[in-house]
Amino acid sequence: MPIFYECQRCTACCRWPGQVRLTDEEIARLAAFKGLSEHDFIQRFTRLTWDRGGLALGEQPDGACIFLEGENCAVQAVKPRQCREFPNLWNFPGFEKTCRALPQTVSEEEFARRLEQIKRTGSARANNP
Ligand code: SF4
Ligand code: SF4
Repeated sequence: MPIFYECQRCTACCRWPGQVRLTDEEIARLAAFKGLSEHDFIQRFTRLTWDRGGLALGEQPDGACIFLEGENCAVQAVKPRQCREFPNLWNFPGFEKTCRALPQTVSEEEFARRLEQIKRTGSARANNP
């Protein structure tokens, strides 16, 4: 039976060192959500990726994602795929030491349903970061 990790909104993944890479499609969607042109969105909310090969979300002075507001994601409805898919569709060895998502054993059907919900809405729960 597959294991689904249910996010507990601890926001650790929005605060730890790293980068959220953005595709052109994600930039267009985020810019539209913020009511900005893509140019203005890029200027205000992104930076170059470390390899200088693309764009990533910018950070706040303390290193948290630029869109983290308290315990919430300010762009939840359109957050990038990298955010949507962690930790169920990608993660890294030992992620459980920091991520508080609760592992739940679910049926194959339920697992598929939850993954589909993540892809569509960004979360298996309505208001996750
Ligand atoms: S876009 Fe939202 S979910 Fe993604 S890192 Fe930033 S605050 Fe967290
Ligand atoms: S995915 Fe994990 S680290 Fe990120 S907010 Fe949810 S429980 Fe926390």
